[in-house]
Amino acid sequence: MTNATRELFNVRPPADALQVLLAHLPAQVAAEHCPTRDALDRVLAEDVASPGDLPNFRRSTMDGFAVRAADTFGASEGLPAYLDVVDEVLMGQSSKVALGQGECARIATGGMLPDGSDAIVMVEQTQAVGPKTIEALRPVAPGENVVQVGEDVRTGDPIVSRGSTLRPQDLGGLLALGVTTVRVARRLRVAIVSGGDELVDPEQEPLAGQIRDINSYTLAALVRRGGHEACLTGVFPDELSALERAARTALAQSDVVILSAGSSVSARDMTAHVVHGLGRPGVLVHGVSLKPGKPTILAVCSGKAVFGLPGNPVSCMVTYELFVAPTLAHLSGAAIPPRRSVGARLTRNVASAAGREDYVQVRLETRADGGLDAVPVFGKSNLIFTLVRATGMLKIPLDAGGLNVGAQVEVVLF
Ligand code: AMP
Ligand code: MG
Repeated sequence: MTNATRELFNVRPPADALQVLLAHLPAQVAAEHCPTRDALDRVLAEDVASPGDLPNFRRSTMDGFAVRAADTFGASEGLPAYLDVVDEVLMGQSSKVALGQGECARIATGGMLPDGSDAIVMVEQTQAVGPKTIEALRPVAPGENVVQVGEDVRTGDPIVSRGSTLRPQDLGGLLALGVTTVRVARRLRVAIVSGGDELVDPEQEPLAGQIRDINSYTLAALVRRGGHEACLTGVFPDELSALERAARTALAQSDVVILSAGSSVSARDMTAHVVHGLGRPGVLVHGVSLKPGKPTILAVCSGKAVFGLPGNPVSCMVTYELFVAPTLAHLSGAAIPPRRSVGARLTRNVASAAGREDYVQVRLETRADGGLDAVPVFGKSNLIFTLVRATGMLKIPLDAGGLNVGAQVEVVLF
């Protein structure tokens, strides 16, 4: 039995395997400035406190009249309060007048309250009785229908924290305060090296026995969707010296290296050997109790994460999601984002071996009652279209023997 064979019998649970890897990788990515408007999905490298109050003037939440609340006390339909309309507040402008007793100003939603006013009477609760006079038919309390200065956020309040991945609403909030630049983690450069004598470029017509390279492109797309930079190095034959050279160049030129295929233990599987020679400490995990994805290699070489992912396109994508994606998040200093998942009802039994974590591709279908059904898309892990036909995947935990039809399951969306 070779060393490599022995390693693969000694598989680790996926969660442990990831921990072993991350324990060797301090988060250390450099930060850079980024215009806030372009910072969607970037990981914030600083805590940001509000530089001002929002709003910084009192705003109406209704179309109506700015009033002194005390002038409306006791008003009713039978005994309305008469108010003189002394101004109309225009949007984007301040009122030129300060309200005196018995006076009001027409105002629209979002308009700036004039001095002297402290509440808004909704237009529906007034009646015009002359060109410059209204009746307020109901009383308003001080502050009613008004957003106060700093009610949204106050000067100095923490608004977004280091490690958060910026969402559309975060960009809106930052820009509302005039924070037009933020410091974010630099995008990681991820090299993708695909190995396999059978692979050809997708532009090429495969000869007998050849197939088009899938993994370079699915992996690159996953990297880019995660906000990082993918660097495709091309396809290499199962030849030790060619692979070693490709891996060494990739390691020198990038932050993270993914080697696709050749991660198992046959004579043609050279990834483990290549990684061993790349730098210390080398291979940390070879083999995880996972289906699909058992022959996965997790390594650190000269301070950089190196992955050997199984070549089956389904295994490759599942192991990317389980190991590479959280590592990129970790390196970027991201609080690992919650996976997007939905609850659904399983439409048939799914078997699994205890002691192994299984991921089953499922298609989601909406039932007549509005709930979601999870329909397993079965297929060998070499079939890319099991992924194309699937909406997401469901996890069968290590200790479960399988899942029964009708079970309520959590489907992680692609
Ligand atoms: P390996 O991990 O090298 O044992 O490959 C497992 C299976 O995945 C084989 O059937 C390979 O042909 C296939 N495979 C490997 N690399 C790729 C790739 N880049 N695109 C599509 N299929 C691949
Ligand atoms: Mg191969």
